[in-house]
Amino acid sequence: MKCSRHPQNDAVAQCSLCNDYLCSDCFEQTKHLKSTFGTVCLDCYEEILQADINNYQWTIKNNIKKTIISIVLYIIGVILIVAAFLGETSAFTQQYTMIGIGVFLCGFYTAL
Ligand SMILES: [Zn+2]
Ligand SMILES: [Zn+2]
Repeated sequence: MKCSRHPQNDAVAQCSLCNDYLCSDCFEQTKHLKSTFGTVCLDCYEEILQADINNYQWTIKNNIKKTIISIVLYIIGVILIVAAFLGETSAFTQQYTMIGIGVFLCGFYTAL
């Protein structure tokens, strides 16, 4: 059999994901993945890398979203607490302090 990427080279292994044949060059380039994915061809190797990058980007986007939500909740919480202390009646103060702390804790929880 010949390598599916390099028709001039003899195959030395077979991709465990798509069953394509690999020459020793291809095998060398992907062999550090062997323990995780088995023997993989360069096409599958690129797919694995791409999936990794997508996953990484998704995690970053998700973290940014979480951070923004928690910052907004923190700010709303602080505003409510400050508003409560500036409030005139004690009933008003108590109510707003509780809501403020609640929103603040929501922000904290979201950040986890
Ligand atoms: Zn493959
Ligand atoms: Zn090859």
